[in-house]
Amino acid sequence: DRIICMLFGTCQTFLLEWLSFLVENEKISNARHKELHFVKTRLQDAIRKKLKNDFRLDAFGSSENGFGSNKSDYDVFFRYGNDNYERSSEMQIQTIINIEQALRAARFSRVMSITTAKVPIVKFAIRVESGEIEGDISYYNELALHNTQLLKRYCSWTKDETLSKLGMFIKKWAKNCEIGDASKGSLSSYAYIILLIHFLQRLPDPLLPVLQEMGEKRTIQVDGWDVYFCDDEPMPSWSQCTLSVSELFLQFLEYFAKFDWQNQVVQIRQTNKLTKIEKGWKKLMCIEDPFDLDHNLGSGISPRMFAFIMKSFVTSREVFFTLKEREGFVRSNMAA
Ligand code: ATP
Ligand code: MG
Repeated sequence: DRIICMLFGTCQTFLLEWLSFLVENEKISNARHKELHFVKTRLQDAIRKKLKNDFRLDAFGSSENGFGSNKSDYDVFFRYGNDNYERSSEMQIQTIINIEQALRAARFSRVMSITTAKVPIVKFAIRVESGEIEGDISYYNELALHNTQLLKRYCSWTKDETLSKLGMFIKKWAKNCEIGDASKGSLSSYAYIILLIHFLQRLPDPLLPVLQEMGEKRTIQVDGWDVYFCDDEPMPSWSQCTLSVSELFLQFLEYFAKFDWQNQVVQIRQTNKLTKIEKGWKKLMCIEDPFDLDHNLGSGISPRMFAFIMKSFVTSREVFFTLKEREGFVRSNMAA
């Protein structure tokens, strides 16, 4: 039994080491940033050849928000230089088709437009020194730029990159459990980061504040939504983390395994709880976007997927917790 316990203990240590290894090795590097910059220039050159109008490209998502890994895709947002440009859906689709043709002509690989989604996009891939970078370009996705900045601000809040490490690990865990891909009926990386921020805001000793409630509140309208959050307050002392990343991960699993999904909405914009009744939402999983308050990030979850996600939370918690307990047992036995 002792040997088995020691093996389990080694396993837990291994998992923790794997976690730090993963974060250290996969965290977006300077070399990767340079490659992404190169890709952006190639995209700009390609599009300029096709479109006469002035335009700009801005990166958003995990390459910018602090949760990026060297394997993350590259999310780019296209807009015309003249901000008052018409944004009708025909115009959006035509622009996306033009961009698709421009990328094909410039020999990007796997170029494909998806014009039926809420936000039309062009997917592409390109070879770089370290391998291949996949990405997509969306058109007038301005709220995504703001939620990227919000996540980045939260990311810089905790000491020793705790949030960034946890976020990267949770994204990886969700992908491994096959519950982290919105295009396959589960939840997006972005949704998991919202879950994580919500959880850290609600710890008995909160690790994160509610940035949308802090500071001198003013309304900043983008696409009809208020995108204000506090980004000028100094960091408070309570952002010091005493719990380890693995401990927080366990608590995260426990929190959502026991969450009142039947009545409550997961949200990060207010301290007070928010109910499904208040929102008029009936879906199984309700995760409110911090800015687009009509947007439920869990609206595409089927009952089957919901059960599968819950099972992943519960089972992972049991497995990780058992390993942790065993390690404690081994340690005390060894000390004895
Ligand atoms: P990954 O490392 O997995 O690529 P990511 O944060 O870039 O993580 P994506 O799914 O590529 O996640 O999404 C890119 C960005 O698009 C998000 O960071 C967010 O800004 C925005 N986004 C994604 N999904 C949604 C959504 N359902 N609603 C609003 N914004 C979203
Ligand atoms: Mg991405």
